[in-house]
Amino acid sequence: MSESFKVLEVSCPFCGETENINIPVAIFSQKKFGTVKIQVPVNAVCPEHQFIVFVDTKGVIRGYEKIDIQMALATTETDREVQRRISLRNLIQIFGIYGIFSLIHAKVFNYTSYIIKNENFEYNEELLNMIGDMILPESRRGKKTIYLLDSPSLNKLNIKDKKALIMDTQQHIFQTPWNVKMKFEEGILKRALEIIDEQDQLTLLQQDIRRLINEVNHTTYILQDRKDIYEDELIEQLSKDLKIKAINNYRLNLIKEYIRRNISEEIASKIKSRVGEFLSII
Ligand SMILES: [Zn+2]
Repeated sequence: MSESFKVLEVSCPFCGETENINIPVAIFSQKKFGTVKIQVPVNAVCPEHQFIVFVDTKGVIRGYEKIDIQMALATTETDREVQRRISLRNLIQIFGIYGIFSLIHAKVFNYTSYIIKNENFEYNEELLNMIGDMILPESRRGKKTIYLLDSPSLNKLNIKDKKALIMDTQQHIFQTPWNVKMKFEEGILKRALEIIDEQDQLTLLQQDIRRLINEVNHTTYILQDRKDIYEDELIEQLSKDLKIKAINNYRLNLIKEYIRRNISEEIASKIKSRVGEFLSII
């Protein structure tokens, strides 16, 4: 299959090193997604850093996002060898670290994921959904949320779901139905990758996700008898009850998103922000 490329001049947001990289033209010809996130791995632009570049449909760079995780990947194996084994490390090799952040976010917060696969992709849907389930507590397992698509062209792609994650197996991300930073995912992945045993890595992810869900459960418990609660009050109560150091606003937003996506919008809407209230007055 011949593919034409567009040359993009990319600068590393960490060190400023600049290099031309080739992006398939098909990525830009898609009109429906707007900005595409392209993962730039270590050695593509500079030898030390990896990051995301935001590119619009005209091929103009709109911004960068840094990825702080540095990970040594085995380089002696071929792609094919790597794909046969399932592990976090291998999944990162295939989808890129940001792709994995996004897939974890989608799994935890109950968004459907569509992955446009190329011909070399060897995993099937069942396997990917099974791996996804391994990071969730048992009560949330068994729901199919990851779909693989064969698509010759992005413009023919017919996905009506605006609330879905859409990406491919070439480290391009076309649609993320959230606009939060992937700090939670980055944090738990960093911890997991410090462990050598590959099975333990998934278990550790599951533990960190379970911790968030515990906070969610306690939040819904606090909310059940109340009409509403202010964010700062809720933070104080959660921190005191669960004996954890103060929950920050980012964490609270994760709790809210989790409740909204997995439990009920109505319960999530009981959490009030003082800022929001103030803004609605003026
Ligand atoms: Zn750099």
